[in-house]
Amino acid sequence: MAMEDHVSLTAIERSDEDCILRFADGASFKLGYLSIRKRCQCAKCKPRQVNDQRRLEFEEEIERYRLEKPNVEVVGRYAIRLVWPSGCSSGIHSFSHLRKTAEELGSRL
Ligand SMILES: [Zn+2]
Repeated sequence: MAMEDHVSLTAIERSDEDCILRFADGASFKLGYLSIRKRCQCAKCKPRQVNDQRRLEFEEEIERYRLEKPNVEVVGRYAIRLVWPSGCSSGIHSFSHLRKTAEELGSRL
């Protein structure tokens, strides 16, 4: 199997509070939007995850966000952007990063 197959996102099915991510290797995960936001890799959010203390504060802030369903924009061939009405929408979520987040914080279907 090519490494690409492991990380290629083939579908994202959005519900109000979470989404289902389907990957080319057949694995599917249910992942909450707040979990995705807790792992945002943008220049503003990433430094807030560098150690446990900062990450905890960052995650508590995100827990207070209103649950909103994002719009999805495709960025190139290997990433998406999720656009929320409030909070940070600048993260470019590569497929491999989403897979890692799904394995850590999501539930395998
Ligand atoms: Zn961000």
